[in-house]
Amino acid sequence: MTLLPAYDITLAGYAGLAAIVAIGLTLLTGVSGQTSFGQASFVGIAAYAAALLPDGPSGLLAGLALTGAAAWLLGLITARLSGHFLALCSVAWGISFYALFGTLPLLHGFNGIGGIPPLRLGPLSLAAPAANVALIWLVVGLALLASRNLLTSRTGRAMRTLAGARAMAESMGIDTVRLARAVFVLAALLAAVSGFLFAHFQRFISPTPFSLTASIEYLFMVILGGAAHLGGAVLGAVLVTVLREELTDWVPRLTGATGNYEAMAFSLAVILFLQRAPRGLWPRLARRAARPKPRRAAPAQPARECPIADGVALEIEGLRKHFGGLAANQDVSFSIRTGEIVALIGPNGAGKSTLFDIVSGQLAPTAGTVRLFGRAVVRLPARRIAALGLARTFQHVKLLADESVRDNIALGAHLAGRAGMLRALLRLDRAEEARLLAAAEAAAARVGLDDMLDMKAGALPLGRQRIVEIARALCLAPRLLLLDEPAAGLRLQEKQQLAALLRQLRGEGMAVLLVEHDMGFVMDLADRVVVMDFGQKIAEGAPAVVQADPAVLEAYLGGVA
Ligand code: ADP
Ligand code: MG
Repeated sequence: MTLLPAYDITLAGYAGLAAIVAIGLTLLTGVSGQTSFGQASFVGIAAYAAALLPDGPSGLLAGLALTGAAAWLLGLITARLSGHFLALCSVAWGISFYALFGTLPLLHGFNGIGGIPPLRLGPLSLAAPAANVALIWLVVGLALLASRNLLTSRTGRAMRTLAGARAMAESMGIDTVRLARAVFVLAALLAAVSGFLFAHFQRFISPTPFSLTASIEYLFMVILGGAAHLGGAVLGAVLVTVLREELTDWVPRLTGATGNYEAMAFSLAVILFLQRAPRGLWPRLARRAARPKPRRAAPAQPARECPIADGVALEIEGLRKHFGGLAANQDVSFSIRTGEIVALIGPNGAGKSTLFDIVSGQLAPTAGTVRLFGRAVVRLPARRIAALGLARTFQHVKLLADESVRDNIALGAHLAGRAGMLRALLRLDRAEEARLLAAAEAAAARVGLDDMLDMKAGALPLGRQRIVEIARALCLAPRLLLLDEPAAGLRLQEKQQLAALLRQLRGEGMAVLLVEHDMGFVMDLADRVVVMDFGQKIAEGAPAVVQADPAVLEAYLGGVA
């Protein structure tokens, strides 16, 4: 039936099985920045379930359920961890599960379990290796397709914030802990599918393929292919599988010695690969491949109405924040009404950004109250505060540098959507996704970024990046907007455009609190000015009044005046 020798067919099967795990690991490690040295454990759980329940469907369901439950429990612990802690934790469970597979009497230790029947699809038997391999690669294709759907969705955008931009994501309304856990479970389920197929393909299992070494190989595959690229996962899986087999074959012949030299040769090959292509092989291959053009002219989203009602938007009372012995905020009180622009000024280190962080829920105050639209929000998580209608930008710009301006802005529209991971995987989110992207484009147009939507955010000059942050904030359709030094790095004309935009927003009833050092800009724009120095409010009032205040002159000019 086929021209490939049996050996190559088997190798193709193993490569496909590895690719399924690697695709999940790409979502987890490459895209979401959660390094796992434990994926082989999930493959193992499902493989043993398949071996113990050899009738196909029930083995698959049991494997998925067990793996999902194990991952969910582990996720309770690990979703809050990141970096080295998560990696270490995964090593720990990788070792534990391996020990468990080798010890549980039910699993027959290192003697393993044999006689697992080949899969059947209805009347169709997959006893022939070629048919089985075809099924495995069909699953690879489906996993690729679903994962690609996920990455081009609201959830996929949010996933990219998990690697190092979680504070920003929370202030866009994204529940990063829950999302991290969901990605973790998804990656584990893909590993489980691979484990199920593995058991029926090899028809014999023992603990060895589910060891820490195997987990490390999966990571190699992902990194070799190019950590964040789905195609790279498949490429890496094929390369590592073939390389391992070839080396096992050739190294003993070349060295004429017995021993574990192939492991060393394998490691050396991987190191050389990574030296030549540190960002993986896939980006090199795909460099010239055209990126899919996003659809234009999506239906516009009706803007959320801003209440013009003349109410209090924000009320801060007795706010205090201590960092150890340093009082960054000392009994600060003031309020902002809707349809008002208030400038918060003061020398560097006065405590302005700290106040922003407290109001937006990034920091808990030492004492004091913050009321947002009449609701006490101290100790509310940032994403809840965002949902109440507060949006902010950051003094130190927090963008996803490798993502497009469009996707960065669309992060702000997260709360305007509902589609979760499942709908994204099945591509049932397209209408909503078009709406979110349209909202992003509308926000971009509002701030004059419409011709830069496809550029990578990191490629823009810093001043423009600040404008991207403002567009992202506008996507939340906020009622209170906090801007931390929005005009820094802008040219005069850009500052004038920004001022015009803020006046327009004020006209729509939005409340704006901004930190700014350019006094010309502030005095022209603000209805009221609050001045801070050494954590304390030292003045408040109309721009002209504040400007003439001796305490303010003292703070700014150090008494020279
Ligand atoms: P501003 O934005 O007005 O320049 P900040 O609010 O950034 O001032 O900082 C106020 C003071 O608090 C500074 O002395 C700063 O060094 C200190 N500070 C800010 N954040 C922290 C932190 N996380 N830990 C310790 N000290 C901090
Ligand atoms: Mg600051």
